[in-house]
Amino acid sequence: MTKFSDLGLSEQVLKAVAETGYDTPTPIQEQAIPVAMTGLDILGIAQTGTGKTAAFTLPMIEKLAAGRSRARMPRAIVLEPTRELADQVAEAFEKYAKYHKLNWALLIGGVSMADQVAKLDKGVDVLIATPGRLLDLFERSKVMLNGVTMMVVDEADRMLDMGFIPDIERIFKLTPPTRQTLFFSATMPPEITRLTEAFLKNPVRIEVSRPATTNENITQYVLRVPHKDVKAKRIALRALLKTLDIQNGIVFCNRKTDVDIVAKSLSVHGFNAAPIHGDLDQSLRMKTLDAFRKGELTLLVASDVAARGLDIPAVGHVFNFDAPIHADDYVHRIGRTGRAGRTGETYLLLSPHDEKNYDKVVKLIKKEPANLELDVDYSALNDAPRESGRQPRRESGKTRGRRDRDHKPKAQVETSPAAIEPVKVEKKPKSAEIITPAEPVTTPVEKTARHSGRKAKTSEKSADKPQIDGPFGDHMPAFLMRATPFKD
Ligand code: AMP
Repeated sequence: MTKFSDLGLSEQVLKAVAETGYDTPTPIQEQAIPVAMTGLDILGIAQTGTGKTAAFTLPMIEKLAAGRSRARMPRAIVLEPTRELADQVAEAFEKYAKYHKLNWALLIGGVSMADQVAKLDKGVDVLIATPGRLLDLFERSKVMLNGVTMMVVDEADRMLDMGFIPDIERIFKLTPPTRQTLFFSATMPPEITRLTEAFLKNPVRIEVSRPATTNENITQYVLRVPHKDVKAKRIALRALLKTLDIQNGIVFCNRKTDVDIVAKSLSVHGFNAAPIHGDLDQSLRMKTLDAFRKGELTLLVASDVAARGLDIPAVGHVFNFDAPIHADDYVHRIGRTGRAGRTGETYLLLSPHDEKNYDKVVKLIKKEPANLELDVDYSALNDAPRESGRQPRRESGKTRGRRDRDHKPKAQVETSPAAIEPVKVEKKPKSAEIITPAEPVTTPVEKTARHSGRKAKTSEKSADKPQIDGPFGDHMPAFLMRATPFKD
């Protein structure tokens, strides 16, 4: 088995890596590090979770170790599509470069420009940036790119989704053609291929396979919610949460409005939960993530776009509040658990509205999650289940927004999922308690509730652009959130 010490890394870097607790390089690290050390360009086809951050950070540290930085002239740049990812790279850099005298600066929106400029003036070795902020500072002559010897483009396909490709192209043109480029993308759509053909020099293509769609450490369940009213799902989710011993978990919702509503509802019911999605203020997102990483926050309620790429280690439980519209998001979602040999449980709430999307998930993963029998008391629903074909009742006074992607959901067709190969279930959760809606929840989770009553804010420069639908877009204004009591 290859060891980190086989990859040509220096003693200082090996020591820093050992201190993070990693003993074996991941496949992308094993393949990319020796190539990057030779100075060749890399086209890495790898997803988040494969260890690609270290795959480019470690050789970058080695390459920069010899030289010195000059004012306003970074020697390396790392481009990330979102502020959170940039922040994670900075954290990784800090860890791995602890035995080197290398400086870095983070150029991301939502962080004081003056501090960033002051750092640049002193001279930084590595600039970790989102493309817009980097170009902004370049145009103000606060940074020069002609000293760049190494450039990393990370998550290129997400950059494409977010409309950053012209910016990337411009940054490529502003850096010396002699630079070494390490380019990573999970997929290779034609626009990305064109970019790599134009700006990479005979890159070594390194492809690591997608994480297994069905990791054996993950036990998947589906909980059928026999009501169309979205409130029923919140009741079911709470009933489910009460049966589980949760250290940390993520609740995924298709829509940003549901992220807000579900997080708020959970908080109101005493669970330690907070939302994260692209419309929330940057500093709030960072605080929430930080609390989650530290274990101070138990449940992160997230949209797919916000959660993708976030470095959240060792999540024990994943909850799919909805069946995702894109089946591959299910794989991303459940891949948040069962990592590094740990076990994980995932749950999908399946209401009649989710059947069509669920069907696509089952087809993709080629197995059907185990049916979870849970005795849920839906008597708090103030109307009877509706018949198929009728419109679901909307939340009173609320505008339901679009989900966190740009695909319009079509009318839901009720189909029964294709049972291809049932998942083998060895462990079943404890039987459910019956929830009396007004009753306070008494799990340990609630005792540390700190995040109730968070308000959503719209960030104009949000990297995950809000998608407009209805009077408030995909975002519930704070006044509405406060004014709308949760009766369930
Ligand atoms: P990345 O794909 O770079 O975001 O990394 C995904 C996760 O894997 C992060 O939580 C890293 O801390 C972790 N990781 C990276 N390299 C290794 C390794 N060699 N062994 C174990 N975990 C790792």
